[in-house]
Amino acid sequence: MTAAHPRRPPLRGHPARHHGGRRPPCLGPWILGGFLVLAPAALAGDDEPSSEARQPVLETPWFAFFSDFDFNLYDAVLASATERRRDQPESLHGECFAALVQEERSAWDAAVAYYSETVAATGDFSRERFIVRSRLAELGAELDDDDQRDLALSLLFLRAAAPAYRACRWPEQDAANRRWIAALAGRLERHADAIGERLERLYGRGWRSLPIAVDVVGTAGWAGADTIADRNIPTHVQITSRAPGYQGAAALEMIFHEASHEIVGPWNGPVAELLRAAAAEAGVELDRNLWHGLLFVSAGEVTRAVLEAAGETGYVPFAEAHGVFQALHEPLRTHWLPYLRGETGREEAARALVEAAAPPP
Ligand SMILES: [Zn+2]
Repeated sequence: MTAAHPRRPPLRGHPARHHGGRRPPCLGPWILGGFLVLAPAALAGDDEPSSEARQPVLETPWFAFFSDFDFNLYDAVLASATERRRDQPESLHGECFAALVQEERSAWDAAVAYYSETVAATGDFSRERFIVRSRLAELGAELDDDDQRDLALSLLFLRAAAPAYRACRWPEQDAANRRWIAALAGRLERHADAIGERLERLYGRGWRSLPIAVDVVGTAGWAGADTIADRNIPTHVQITSRAPGYQGAAALEMIFHEASHEIVGPWNGPVAELLRAAAAEAGVELDRNLWHGLLFVSAGEVTRAVLEAAGETGYVPFAEAHGVFQALHEPLRTHWLPYLRGETGREEAARALVEAAAPPP
């Protein structure tokens, strides 16, 4: 299991599709002057995968955790479509699935087939995935006509797949999500303030808005977690409740790791500026993964230190446990950890770090 990768505001790669100044589309019913007005039939609320209300399972001052049927259905269809693309056995195809009526099996398989040729054929932060995620997580992103057409089709297939998912996976997945959230709740209560406040000081900026919405799901993309951090919409995290690397105290680190993606990015934010200025001053090229290695080490080390101060010793941060960005470990250990421990200044640490991590000329 490797890292999560929010790369850039998701629509930035599609400038032709990114129009400013328009109101967000409303795909559900509108209330106008006391009358209920339905949106065009193809996009109306009836085509939503289900009508269950979206409520967090747990809301803390830092995070709001969801175990949402629609979002988990989307995650499962996308995961099965990815399996199909790789000619792997599809995980929903078991005894329960075989016992369903033909219509439910066919509808599920049609959804997986559609997704395997469309949404699953794109990258984690593609437009195709972003528009579905934005809608299901209620992020309110602006969508153009093409987005709305694609979204309507994606939602239509999710709706078709819902009965098979509800019968064969949802109760078990919902229970796993709720167990994961419950296990994290105590750690958040004990340590979230210490970790969050320390990270804000170290990064040099606080979070825009708390709590951050977190959808807990089975798979959450290839990495097991990722974050949309676009200044125009609320930050959104999805994270796996099933992957072994995201259990126990690692869940505490990784939830703050994901949240950190709002502040620490490759192009924007106080850390990007710090590293860019340090590289310019030192006259070296900036390693392209350094910002993310720095994020890993910061969230990991702060989590480890806070746990240790509370008497929970022996925590091994995620990057160390899983060998993420191994080539950067030594420079980060030598030059960034002293800053995290308060032994050196920020600029001084950044300067030494970019020099030690610079790719050979
Ligand atoms: Zn990350």
